[in-house]
Amino acid sequence: MKLAARVGQLSPSLTLTIDAKAKAMKAEGQDVCNFSVGEPDFPTPDHICKATEAALEAGKTKYGPVAGEPKLRQAIAQKLQKDNNLCYAAENIIVTNGGKHSLYNLMMALINPGDEVIIPAPYWVSYPEMVKLAAGIPVIVQTDDVNQFKITPEQLQQAITPKTRLFVLNSPSNPTGVVYTPDEIRALAQVVVDNDIYVVSDEIYEKLLYDGATHLSIGAVSPEAFDRTIVSSGFAKAYSMTGWRIGYLAGPVDLIKACSTIQGHSTSNVCTFAQYGAIAGLEGPQDCIQEMLSAFAERRQFMLDAINSIPGLSCVKPDGAFYLMPNIQKTGMNSLDFCQALLEEYQVVMVPGIAFGADGFVRISYAADLKTIEKGMERLDKFVRSRI
Ligand code: PLP
Repeated sequence: MKLAARVGQLSPSLTLTIDAKAKAMKAEGQDVCNFSVGEPDFPTPDHICKATEAALEAGKTKYGPVAGEPKLRQAIAQKLQKDNNLCYAAENIIVTNGGKHSLYNLMMALINPGDEVIIPAPYWVSYPEMVKLAAGIPVIVQTDDVNQFKITPEQLQQAITPKTRLFVLNSPSNPTGVVYTPDEIRALAQVVVDNDIYVVSDEIYEKLLYDGATHLSIGAVSPEAFDRTIVSSGFAKAYSMTGWRIGYLAGPVDLIKACSTIQGHSTSNVCTFAQYGAIAGLEGPQDCIQEMLSAFAERRQFMLDAINSIPGLSCVKPDGAFYLMPNIQKTGMNSLDFCQALLEEYQVVMVPGIAFGADGFVRISYAADLKTIEKGMERLDKFVRSRI
């Protein structure tokens, strides 16, 4: 069949493909250590599930407002005010089918054919593809582990042209886990304001911080930065709600209205009763996040020590999310060969850095139990020693 030209430009999500392969190997009975997953290995907190059951019983099973249940939009606006110092009202918020969908809506609403969107690499796999779907041009700015995988204000400035419309900032980052310091955020905000471009701040990992790291939303830097900021986030990572598909976008009212029109003709509202679970997530006790965080912190330290003790590998210590991105260049292998051989010979699953625009690295998720991590690191050690 002759498919639309836009499909030809897209690559399938390598992370989802690899995760599916690992699950299939496990189902065949193989002893797989899967470090490819992008979701917390904890159940959704009970009070969130209970609130959803209550919503079902109360008949919240019909079509709802396209932009989201008013109570949820209000709760998100309050959260952004309280946690992030961002002054939004409910009308500045649209509830979407996950953070992925909020970013997709944004690209469709903001990007004209030929507009440039600056994306620092390593990047989350879907950013460039979404820009392409909107007929925009992804402008990739390479960063590396020497600079903690952070784009500098100078690099951002150099990448800006008259066609630049948007800068994509993701802190804490998937795939590197790094967190920009408040000073670094302020310096990037200055470039955004000086050049009068927009920035989308993908803050989906904002709650997953370690070692006293803090999260500053770029929109909170100044009123001028606020006017140019769009926030994308969701419930998947902080509340372990990946399968619920609830995210949100916050920004200027005209943009949110445009996203709502697009959503009205594509997916309509997000599952009505699920939104009541999200409300309980925001309004209920937050200690569930803390419990998850302390488990992640222990695993992160264990994994980092293990990786950095393997000759030929090195890894920056990131302060957020649940990913590590070790440098594999000394092994002489590219990231695809590395991951393929590791999977075939040792049944350990990692994601090749090439999926994130960083071929000299692999992404390892520590959203796995400690036993699996111990076993996986032993196998990784054997594998790398056999190659160098
Ligand atoms: N942004 C980043 C950086 C992510 O890692 C993810 C998911 O992996 C998302 C957005 C989208 O999350 P979801 O659509 O599950 O809410």
